[in-house]
Amino acid sequence: MIIVMKKSATPVQLEHVVQKVKDLGFTPNISRGVEKTVIGVIGEEGKVRVESLETFPGVESVVPIEKPYKLVSREFKDESSSFKMNDGTIVGGKKVVVMAGPCSVENRDMLYLIAKEVKKSGATFLRGGAFKPRTSPYAFQGLGEEGLKYLREVADEVGLQVVTEVMDTRQVEIVAKYADMLQIGARNMQNFDLLREVGISKKPTLLKRGLSSTVKEWLLSAEYILSKGNFNVMLAERGIRTFETATRNTLDLNAIPVVKSETHLPILVDPSHGTGRWDYVGPLAKAALAGGADGIMIEVHNNPVDAFSDGAQSLLPEKFALLMAELKKVAGAVGREI
Ligand code: PEP
Ligand code: MN
Repeated sequence: MIIVMKKSATPVQLEHVVQKVKDLGFTPNISRGVEKTVIGVIGEEGKVRVESLETFPGVESVVPIEKPYKLVSREFKDESSSFKMNDGTIVGGKKVVVMAGPCSVENRDMLYLIAKEVKKSGATFLRGGAFKPRTSPYAFQGLGEEGLKYLREVADEVGLQVVTEVMDTRQVEIVAKYADMLQIGARNMQNFDLLREVGISKKPTLLKRGLSSTVKEWLLSAEYILSKGNFNVMLAERGIRTFETATRNTLDLNAIPVVKSETHLPILVDPSHGTGRWDYVGPLAKAALAGGADGIMIEVHNNPVDAFSDGAQSLLPEKFALLMAELKKVAGAVGREI
């Protein structure tokens, strides 16, 4: 349930209610909006409602959250969320964030070359996998910590933020040491222990939608992270499995308005994994921005033919530069910047 405080509620009255919630054995989540302050009380249904808090001074109303997800819901927080990265980049603001880079970190030289190019074109994040979730155990699995080091060094040199995947609870500490943002991959969207661990880490997190997950399941996964106190979460639509075989996945652009109405969290779209083909990436990136996405992720490689992974969907740096110029126009047309 959420406890809505009156506009005139004093800090003492707020503290009084917060204390009462704690006394009942629940963790209060305070959300201070421009208009009102609300306290989210999450716990076992029924148990929380025993005590009526409506009579407390300063309380305007106590309303149950009907949605299965609570902290991520618009009911809990009406205003759209944004958060600040280490370099001041705002995720979820007017400016759309662009994450670009290779699928896998293959070596330092290629990473540096690509990073310089994507930075020049206006990207704010360098993406690249050091721990790779591959369908086959015989495919390239990533450089591990060596890859993380390259990401950090190159991003610092060029002036980008690092977003990279963490696949396992045992890797959270090491990935968090090098990265600015943790990526939870599609295959791990329902790895609940990993979600909890990333929640505890409080690191900005990009939560990709599972290959065959509904929006509801995806938002419940985000709820795991928020429930551990980490509100710095961005959702990523990266395509889902359908009967269609013409493309690698079906990019579900419906998810943008659905997510926007259901939750306050920002959403990014990844047309690279969403389509699986470099020549389809541009049209879908433009559509994503026009549809209200807060960010896009695009795979860029200097030599896609020889890429260790996902070459077919990777843009050459010069193609990425051309696309960014077009995306600037689209962003402007819908009141955003890039
Ligand atoms: C990736 O970003 O390279 C990746 C593996 O993505 P996904 O988890 O969406 O397949
Ligand atoms: Mn990839």
